[in-house]
Amino acid sequence: MTATHDTTDPTRCAALYLRRSHKNADGDARNGRSLAEQESELRDLAARLGLFVTEVYVEREGTGASRYSLKARPQWMRALAELRAGDHFRTLLVWALDRADRRGAVEIGRILDEHADGSRRIVGVDGTDTADSRRRLEHIIRAELAREEVENLSRRVSRAKRFRRAEGRWLGGAAPYGLRIVDGHLEHDPETYPTARRIADELLAGRTIWQTVKRLNDDGVPSPRGKSWGVGTVSTLVRSPAWAGLQGIREKTASGRWRHIAEPFRDERGQTVSVGEGVITPGERARILQTIGDRSATLAEGGRFVRRGDRRSAALLADVLRCADCGGRTAQSGAAGKKVYRCGTYGNGRACDGFTAPTAESDEAVSIAFLGRLATLEAGDPLLEAVADAWVARVAPDDIAAREAAQDALDAARADLARVRRLVAAGTFDEADATAVMPELRANVAAAEAALARIPVPDADISPLLDLAQSVPAFFDLPEHERRGLIALAITNVEASRARSRGVRFDPTDRLLITWADGTTSRPSPARVDQRAERIAKVCAMLAADPAVTIAQVAEAINRSPRTARDVLDTARASLADTH
Ligand SMILES: [Zn+2]
Repeated sequence: MTATHDTTDPTRCAALYLRRSHKNADGDARNGRSLAEQESELRDLAARLGLFVTEVYVEREGTGASRYSLKARPQWMRALAELRAGDHFRTLLVWALDRADRRGAVEIGRILDEHADGSRRIVGVDGTDTADSRRRLEHIIRAELAREEVENLSRRVSRAKRFRRAEGRWLGGAAPYGLRIVDGHLEHDPETYPTARRIADELLAGRTIWQTVKRLNDDGVPSPRGKSWGVGTVSTLVRSPAWAGLQGIREKTASGRWRHIAEPFRDERGQTVSVGEGVITPGERARILQTIGDRSATLAEGGRFVRRGDRRSAALLADVLRCADCGGRTAQSGAAGKKVYRCGTYGNGRACDGFTAPTAESDEAVSIAFLGRLATLEAGDPLLEAVADAWVARVAPDDIAAREAAQDALDAARADLARVRRLVAAGTFDEADATAVMPELRANVAAAEAALARIPVPDADISPLLDLAQSVPAFFDLPEHERRGLIALAITNVEASRARSRGVRFDPTDRLLITWADGTTSRPSPARVDQRAERIAKVCAMLAADPAVTIAQVAEAINRSPRTARDVLDTARASLADTH
């Protein structure tokens, strides 16, 4: 081809449209070519079609979501306008029409209508040809899929990557720590089994999960994720039926959520099913769970895990604490060890009398209220579900991501089906169009449903969180940002009011009002340990004055039930005996 050919005849001329595109989640080649590669292939296509390239439109991509908006495609709009005018060329060559134009079926339908008489064409390396009326349906569907993809793109790209990582896993999910999957069965993993067995031995020796975790970290044993061990990781591990070589199962609750706790699967005869070697035996599993269950139970009775000297928090409530008088956020002041929260408005010298509340006591009171509330929530409580979801996301992000990706794929397949129905309703599709495409879309939905069903339920449950509640030390041993994050899930805000008079001892029940994420409110319990210590001291004084003091007298003096009075009296007697 030389310049002597008639390049003034627009029917023999073509324009190229090039757009630098980002690689999609699948590393899709047609979407990932460089501009030079695109231009070279499009020129080849022009040559095959016997057309002269007279114009090249190059789109400069914007960044972020705006790069998909119409505004960000000025060159595409120019190219389309020129094509429509038809003064210079009647054919526009693109890499793929659904990549070039993502405005959906309505816009593409309009272009297809204009091109139906063959006077204009958009031809793509991907096979697009807008002048081919037999392919109208395909073009429209692809345009709609492209639009859908734009709507979900950023979310789906990141999820799809993680989804692929999870794909093709053994049915039960990743092998639990200490085991590996060989030919579909579990067996000891020579690398990790020794540490896994050490965990089992420590728990069987009666150590708490928290103590076990601490010892692992103290010894510098790397966790499965290569970082430090967490209570959640170990708690999840020991509860996993597979850790005992058992097939596990999770069921959906009536509300459609997955149960947080995996159970050993039982066959029709009620027998558990072995899936190979475990780190522990089923009997050891039962013993460990029994111990953990016992400890969790003590929490549910409330309060007794409180120990002074475990308060290491600094400003845990900085985000949620509010001044009851002015609604202002909180500020902190005070020397180390005597830190206080105070009304930020007051601190700025503005018009609020402001509150002052000791940081350590406030943090502890709210933390204990949080742990206590968590432990008493029934399964299915929305507050527990919210905290649990966040917890599961924290301890099993890959599993969550895989399920979300599969759910996305299913949603997308269902949306495709729904979209065709809408197109039929809008008259864009006739019945024949729909009949041609419906079976495939239905099959896609079925396949996506099956794919979702194959992905293991996240291997994490709420129980680690409840274990955490077994001791305040364990909770306070979490990094502060994690504690803060967990509290923020469950608590909307904490209102702090002023003390009734100066010099009064801080009473969290009187001074703090917690608004929970489910809209309910409550006040933290009194500082139990302090009060108990005070009661014991009081009864010691009574005993010193009158060794024959009665339970009734004690009950009246400390304003508690006879049962509590007896307990306090016994303790006071014992402590006096110790010191004598
Ligand atoms: Zn204030």
